[in-house]
Amino acid sequence: MPTEQTAPEAIQEKLEPLSDGMFCFACHPGVPCFTECCRDLKLLLTPYDILRLKTHLRLDARTFLDHYTESRFDELRSLPMIYLKMLDDSRKVCPFVSADGCRVYADRPAACRIYPIAKATRLHPVHHTVLEEYFVLRESHCQGFEQKRSWEIGEWTKDQGLERYDEWNNLWMGIITHPRLRSGSPLSTKQQQMFFLAGYNLDKFREFVLGSRFLAIFDVTDEEAEALRDSDESLLRLSFRWLRFSLFKEPTLKMKAQ
Ligand code: SF4
Ligand code: SF4
Repeated sequence: MPTEQTAPEAIQEKLEPLSDGMFCFACHPGVPCFTECCRDLKLLLTPYDILRLKTHLRLDARTFLDHYTESRFDELRSLPMIYLKMLDDSRKVCPFVSADGCRVYADRPAACRIYPIAKATRLHPVHHTVLEEYFVLRESHCQGFEQKRSWEIGEWTKDQGLERYDEWNNLWMGIITHPRLRSGSPLSTKQQQMFFLAGYNLDKFREFVLGSRFLAIFDVTDEEAEALRDSDESLLRLSFRWLRFSLFKEPTLKMKAQ
């Protein structure tokens, strides 16, 4: 089955393969459709999106999740997934859009950065490397395609600050597409709760790590342990290792010799 047929049905017909890696597009406050794309979205957030947004808004993770997101259960993977909650008005606009554009632009989610490109990723069945395929998502409301600026896909991802996001989101994809989750034995309720805590509620995960015997049990260097107190990125790196260890029994953490 072609990759575009695995995309959500609502956008399948709008996807065009990016065969030569080039596309023509520009978005700026002068386009007549400015911010028209920031509404009525099913915008999936990754842990790194959440980290960046909550930091931008100076909120703790729980407050951010409560105010700006909704959790929906993914039956296929038996995992809770987090979506940005649109406002409950007739236009269902994004809570961060304003007449001047995106209020969280510097820390906007990866999905907003890559638009109007769509990326399909899958894991190589043998080498477990991430395989990427790009498409142009041509929506009728978007007049950015009429602008005469051409982009090569690598230039676009760099311009939109996607490299850092891709690095983190590929690690996350390795967890949510793990073969163990498709093996027919769904995660227990306790494992799902741990997945939510470590993946999305980073500040609570910090409390769990620092307030339990975690650091006495697992072989984490003093330097790493110190960084966990202030650095959300260090904590997120540990949370991904913890999820692979606790959910998939992988040797991503070692117990200390007793
Ligand atoms: S619809 Fe397209 S051109 Fe208009 S603001 Fe959104 S991305 Fe830019
Ligand atoms: S986060 Fe910013 S760019 Fe993304 S939909 Fe909301 S307003 Fe638009």
